Amino acid sequence: MARKTGQCLCGAVTFTAVVGDAIQACHCVQCQRWTGGGPYFAVEVEALELSGGDVLREYHASTWGERVVCGTCGSTVYWKMQGKAPRTIAAGLLDDQSGLRVTEEIFVDYRPGWLPPFEGAAQSTEAQEMAKLEEFLAGQT
Ligand SMILES: [Zn+2]
Ligand SMILES: [Zn+2]
Repeated sequence: MARKTGQCLCGAVTFTAVVGDAIQACHCVQCQRWTGGGPYFAVEVEALELSGGDVLREYHASTWGERVVCGTCGSTVYWKMQGKAPRTIAAGLLDDQSGLRVTEEIFVDYRPGWLPPFEGAAQSTEAQEMAKLEEFLAGQT
């Protein structure tokens, strides 16, 4: 984990955060459409300090998830559980992406045929991810 900075395309949204080196790539259809050619490359963040939050726009494509973009330039910023703080940020926003690698791919059943898997990355299907989600949601009440 290292403190890193990042920004959206137009610079209205900037942040610093303690960032992990593992990327989780989500190949679900929603992430493909959301990022314009997915996957969503999510990198784990702690102590996220974000400025320009007033330009952020949220979209709920499911009853549990929230997709957040810059309302000015449209950059993908983060996906999070509704009502929760963000735990990841889009890897492409980081000023320094050195040392990052894809360690996990999820919803691999939806990975397009033109995109090869990342070597050495753990693979998880929609059924496996939905089972994890149901377990998480059941523990929420
Ligand atoms: Zn922007
Ligand atoms: Zn996804």
